[in-house]
Amino acid sequence: MDQQDVLLNINGVNKRFGGLQALTDVSIKIMRGQIYGLIGPNGAGKTTFFNVITGLYQPDTGSFELAGKPYSPSAPHEVAKAGIARTFQNIRLFGDMTVLENVMVGRHVRTRQGVFGAIFRHQAAREEEAAIRRRAQELLDFVGIGQFANRTAKFLSYGDQRRLEIARALATDPQLLALDEPAAGMNATEKLALRELLVKIKAEGKTVLLIEHDVKLMMGLCDRITVLEYGKPIAEGLPADIQKNPAVIEAYLGGAH
Ligand code: ADP
Ligand code: MG
Repeated sequence: MDQQDVLLNINGVNKRFGGLQALTDVSIKIMRGQIYGLIGPNGAGKTTFFNVITGLYQPDTGSFELAGKPYSPSAPHEVAKAGIARTFQNIRLFGDMTVLENVMVGRHVRTRQGVFGAIFRHQAAREEEAAIRRRAQELLDFVGIGQFANRTAKFLSYGDQRRLEIARALATDPQLLALDEPAAGMNATEKLALRELLVKIKAEGKTVLLIEHDVKLMMGLCDRITVLEYGKPIAEGLPADIQKNPAVIEAYLGGAH
């Protein structure tokens, strides 16, 4: 395995909340271009792990490397600059802004002017604004909701709001796109469409870290999977092996959850 192809290399993450050990020695290594799955029953620590690697929670221990460089997940905007973008299990959009504006906000992370600079009507700022607008529209087209660009975000269907979140995350040109249960609350048709979108994102050369509760959705989509149970990794490997792994089957069917 060529070390240069390792995009995300995280080792030994521990995180405790009071009396609860939410993550115990969690390590993960994601190769460039992979769709990497993180699964586990509710409460297993999946979102906590995302929150740690994206700077929302401070870990008790852990080492963090993105594209061979150590990064410090100390603040969400630093993580975004390092090249990790994420979505949230509970959709976080600016509901009263338009669909297009929601993506433009994501794009501003990457630009020189920044959110406030873009307000000034200098020529440079105007041109930058127009470029951001064009790119935002492209991303909306890419995720399949380009026709809704000028709608107020909160009026989108649930599935389309999830797509919008993905477009906004892509707007930062991330090296790693981290999605926390993007299929939650979707119907079967929406799930199929989401799956197709993820395949398209991978085809564009992006690396994806995907949390999902539904194991079936991950099969045939993920290159590798890590399974968490009570904050501990209980299995890591190819989807086909994960599916047959007795500890995984027990975690899902054991009744404890
Ligand atoms: P998952 O995403 O796998 O369903 P979570 O990471 O949300 O699981 O939660 C893992 C455990 O950590 C749960 O028991 C949850 O109650 C607990 N937990 C998560 N966030 C916090 C927090 N901010 N404070 C205290 N406990 C938390
Ligand atoms: Mg969660």
